[in-house]
Amino acid sequence: MTTFEELGINPQIQRAILELGFENPMPVQEEVIPLMLNKKSDIIALAQTGTGKTAAYGLPLIQEAHPGTKLPRALILCPTRELCLQIAGDLNDYARYIDDLKVLPVYGGSSIETQINALKKGVQIIVATPGRLIDLIDRKAAKLSDVTRVVLDEADEMLNMGFLDSINEILAQVPEGRNTLLFSATMPQEIVGISRKYMTNPREVTIGNRNSGAENVKHLCYTVHAKDKYLVLKRIADFNPDIYGIVFCRTRIETQEIADKLIQDGYNADSLHGDLSQPMRDMVMQKFRHRNIRLLVATDVAARGLDVTDLTHIINYNLPDDPEIYTHRSGRTGRAGKTGISIAIVNLKEKYLIKQIEKKIQKNFQHAAIPKGREICEKQLFHLIDRMEKVEIDHSEIDTYLPVIFKKLEWLEKEEVIKRFVSLQFNKFLDYYRGTSDIKVPDDYGSNRDDGNRRDSKRRDRNRGERDGRGERDRGDRDRGDRDRGDRDSRSDRSDRGDRGDRRDRGDRNDRDRGSERSGGDYTRMFINAGKMDGFNPGSLIEMINSSTSGKKIGIGRIDLMKTFSFFEIESRYAQEISRLLKNKRFGDRKINIGIASEKEEQDRPSKSKTYSRHKH
Ligand code: AMP
Repeated sequence: MTTFEELGINPQIQRAILELGFENPMPVQEEVIPLMLNKKSDIIALAQTGTGKTAAYGLPLIQEAHPGTKLPRALILCPTRELCLQIAGDLNDYARYIDDLKVLPVYGGSSIETQINALKKGVQIIVATPGRLIDLIDRKAAKLSDVTRVVLDEADEMLNMGFLDSINEILAQVPEGRNTLLFSATMPQEIVGISRKYMTNPREVTIGNRNSGAENVKHLCYTVHAKDKYLVLKRIADFNPDIYGIVFCRTRIETQEIADKLIQDGYNADSLHGDLSQPMRDMVMQKFRHRNIRLLVATDVAARGLDVTDLTHIINYNLPDDPEIYTHRSGRTGRAGKTGISIAIVNLKEKYLIKQIEKKIQKNFQHAAIPKGREICEKQLFHLIDRMEKVEIDHSEIDTYLPVIFKKLEWLEKEEVIKRFVSLQFNKFLDYYRGTSDIKVPDDYGSNRDDGNRRDSKRRDRNRGERDGRGERDRGDRDRGDRDRGDRDSRSDRSDRGDRGDRRDRGDRNDRDRGSERSGGDYTRMFINAGKMDGFNPGSLIEMINSSTSGKKIGIGRIDLMKTFSFFEIESRYAQEISRLLKNKRFGDRKINIGIASEKEEQDRPSKSKTYSRHKH
């Protein structure tokens, strides 16, 4: 089988795509990548969504982009905003280890000024919907004079949407000697027309119709001890922040149990089985269809009435005895031109079922490594950043609040604001996964694994000692109710959360008012009546605390120095003690007054302050 290396893809890109799970090139990639890298031929590819076409053209484009240059070298045209964002997101994923490479999505309906500013700073690859690109060309913000490669993605859709004139107008701006690639699911006459007009001896690539149901499904298998199945299920959910799937169990009792645990742990989950009344079942199905529930735990019989086409995952918490049932389960994903993943979580006793299913579906399961805590945190972090980039701003709702918010935050540098917003979401995953051991893989693990997990498992067992698995379970409670907050920002999700949501909201406010959770534990924000004008500085504070607490190691967080007073964060468990010890001490002429910072004091603070972060002594 050909590898990406053999196709000429460089190691940096290989590293990034391997992390995305691309182990071997898909057929369209095998055909297109060498044509782009070696021969620079024009290409017409008959390929639908789900065939891997984005990476087929995206990997060579990235490899040959010139990071840091001002004007774009490559242009990708596509029909919709969603596709535009998706392509740009995919390209950014592939380019993760390439510094200074800028891929910019430009599409209608979002601020043109922001796009103009980004173009001014320099962009190497533009992904655009035709209408917006023409606006940008007209405003002289997009300059196509250096473009050497143009990709027309979903060309037939662009024509259906009436973009033919715009495409002609855009291509007229791109230098003649360019390399043109056209991807389309169908080949209507107009496409042939475009190819005649703009392409030179195009190579035709036809990728068989891979959209027919099961063809688009990837089968993954995690082999674990039976007792760890639930933990693995959670890791799968955490590792796939956009998961929308069904978890199949064998019995009604098990279905209810797993759903209850997931709900308790804060996931958007519910159960569907025969013990529920019909109105209850209808309600659950309705919520699932509207995506208010992201993980539906179900029995085969109960799930029959459910017709949802765009599931990302099918998870077999237990495999059925009959392989035919597996094909029904997995056939629920990978529909409507999308790719889907069917996962089996099996213990050693169930391994024989995998073999039977492989025979039936004529495909092998990929034996996957259980995502590690670090990988999950990373995935969640970048998912959060992606969502932040793509979020639609409802100006009519938010604009009135912005002046107050800007004023409140004006003392923070931009980097600090980003760090804080990111931490708000990210800390919960860090807290949960910090120090958790990898889930132990059974010794007699399948021989076709290639991820090193098995090789390492013995060594890890020795190191792990009694922490095995328990760290994760112990954290279950702390974790509860917090896990999926990041994903649940739609209105319907919020209303669905009911009580638990309220509690969480209050929790957040408390954090802000009284302190913050730091890596080393809880911190409390304190007020002290000495500031810069008194010559007070971080050193004086640490010195005061040191001399009063004789050798105790006390964590100090952020210190904000104002003219006549200051704020600082201290490990919460020492807050009262420090108040008591420093009260009435002297700093210069001043008698010290100290206490837990109140909301009023925070509001009274002047906007200009000097900030120091996290000193420990
Ligand atoms: P596309 O046809 O570009 O929409 O891609 C369909 C899906 O296949 C996307 O989710 C890609 O991330 C995934 N994909 C693309 N290339 C590969 C590969 N070589 N191995 C595994 N998955 C891939």
